[in-house]
Amino acid sequence: MTRVAIVTGGTRGIGHAISVMLKKAGMKVAANYAGNEEKAKAFTAETGILAYKWDVADFAACQAGVAKVVADLGPVDVLVNNAGITRDATLKRQTRAQWDEVLDVNLGGCFNMCKAVWDGMLDRSFGRIVNVGSINGQGGQYGQVNYAAAKSGIHGFTKALAQEGAAKGVTVNAIAPGYIDTEMVAAVPPNVLEKIVAKIPVGRLGKAEEIARGVLFLVGDEAGFVTGSTLSINGGQHMY
Ligand code: NDP
Repeated sequence: MTRVAIVTGGTRGIGHAISVMLKKAGMKVAANYAGNEEKAKAFTAETGILAYKWDVADFAACQAGVAKVVADLGPVDVLVNNAGITRDATLKRQTRAQWDEVLDVNLGGCFNMCKAVWDGMLDRSFGRIVNVGSINGQGGQYGQVNYAAAKSGIHGFTKALAQEGAAKGVTVNAIAPGYIDTEMVAAVPPNVLEKIVAKIPVGRLGKAEEIARGVLFLVGDEAGFVTGSTLSINGGQHMY
């Protein structure tokens, strides 16, 4: 059976790798993005995967976006909540707007997207949801109270929702990536990045494909006994 998957933030970085890997596994994939048209067009040209623009922080936009995907590809079996942003600043300097933006996209987006697919998954007695958290949601990080709170929230959200879907064929899991070589990490100053890499036992940044492999495992039809779990893929940095 051909599964239909939505990957939020699916046109760049980790999401790009997830979209491609799910397509290779035989799924019909819809990649969502926020506004970087250039990257989205290049992504579709390169992969043949359709890109859909909406803001995951906008509840109504998520409902409309999912409805469009369903009309184009069919009911959604797999949701990967991968869209995420950083607005780093110490608490002393962090503005309420920076707090709200990160919570609204990273955690609110997760809620909005799950709401848009949940009833359909329950009705069809099948669903696979993977929420992308972060090592910094597990261990915190200097200058990231907003991001750490949102990602930590994702881990709690995952465990709670997993309980609601468990008896109904819908699994909900999280992946907690360590530091992965994407544009998000490229924004970290080189001197800080050097110190981060020094703390990774494997001795390098992770690759987006290494996260995608974890997602592929969790969304498989055969992974029905895995729910409410967090898969840490971080090169051994924090043995959580
Ligand atoms: P990138 O910044 O490379 O890509 C982010 C993607 O999310 C883009 O496709 C972007 O769309 C999309 N996006 C951002 N905001 C929204 C929004 N409001 N609505 C819809 N789409 C949105 O990020 P990464 O690939 O590095 O990160 C992916 C996920 O992994 C994030 O949740 C991040 O927090 C998490 N993570 C990343 C780590 C890393 O080391 N890179 C470590 C741990 C976790 P557009 O192109 O239009 O801007």
